[in-house]
Amino acid sequence: MGLQKYTSQCIAACGVAVLTLLLSACAPATDSAGAVANEGSVSDAKVYRWTLITTWPKNLPGLGAAPERLAERLRIMSNGRLDIKVYGAGELVGALEVFDAVSQGTAQMGHGAAYYWRGKNPATAMFATVPFGMNAQEMNGWLRYGGGMALWQELYAKFNLVPFAAGNSGVQMAGWFNKEINSIEDLQGLKMRIPGIGGEVLSRAGGVPVVLPGGEIFTALQTGAIDATEWVGPYNDLAFSLHTAAKYYYYPGWHEPGPTLEAFVNKDAWDALPADLQAMIQVATQAINEDMLSEFTARNNAALDTLINEHGVELRRLPDDVIAALRDSSREVVAEIAEADPLAQRIYDSYMSYLADVRRYHEISEQAYLNVR
Ligand code: CA
Repeated sequence: MGLQKYTSQCIAACGVAVLTLLLSACAPATDSAGAVANEGSVSDAKVYRWTLITTWPKNLPGLGAAPERLAERLRIMSNGRLDIKVYGAGELVGALEVFDAVSQGTAQMGHGAAYYWRGKNPATAMFATVPFGMNAQEMNGWLRYGGGMALWQELYAKFNLVPFAAGNSGVQMAGWFNKEINSIEDLQGLKMRIPGIGGEVLSRAGGVPVVLPGGEIFTALQTGAIDATEWVGPYNDLAFSLHTAAKYYYYPGWHEPGPTLEAFVNKDAWDALPADLQAMIQVATQAINEDMLSEFTARNNAALDTLINEHGVELRRLPDDVIAALRDSSREVVAEIAEADPLAQRIYDSYMSYLADVRRYHEISEQAYLNVR
């Protein structure tokens, strides 16, 4: 995208120390995105009051902090011209109604995870996470420099939305169980909250996947409506007190190896913005994307220590044969995504081709290093 490239060049040239100044200096009066007379000028004092709805409970640490920080930074960067009020799940619309609400213009912006919208097109899940697929670093590479972002924009344009990567939890935990998982047979009939492609994989293994928004997980697990759940990782799982409803905490998070969280904007609202405010959203979502991964990286370990040492949680690793069975099943389920339509096929091809390429190098770089550290 021309504007994105232009903004990147400006950042490289000017440095990021004084972002407001930078964006003022770079505001392209003649940029195609702001071609309408006066629309692209920073002297335009019009205030855009937006509503941002999220799939997360209000004030949830980690995931819920991202939209709050995004709105706050955009308010500061725009000197109040982009004034965004954030609503948690259920305040204006239900957690899983966010996509439709922003698509239809009920709100201008949303924050969620693309795998919640698999019902719209199964390929949406590939912009969140793929079981046994890319980690956070690899997802960011695919989206920004591997062709992923253009495909995401093409897919969401069908729903009158403009998507942005806006957070990543890193590798998640496999989840909370009230019984030990010693073989694939232990997954038979297991009713587990697990969204996205991972849920379909569990289903192939004989389990019963349930999709519940975060705010409903604890009660469902505590009352026995579900037998097991995954959520995020120690930092967010501790915040939900999931350890009081299940005993065993399993790793690794095979189903979510580095899920991208998303922000999306109603296309009509996006087109109505002057170019400098559009650039601020691009830069601010990129900052949030990095910020969330940094926060989880910094806080997960301490939270895991608290879960084990203060709450007596029993940490378990999924057995190798269970992992192998889930991996085989994942390959089948992911390949079926490509059958949905020609665009899903292109998304699948791009993802898998990039994954194969990045794996070859990461096996002798990131992975090789972690193995010797
Ligand atoms: Ca999860």
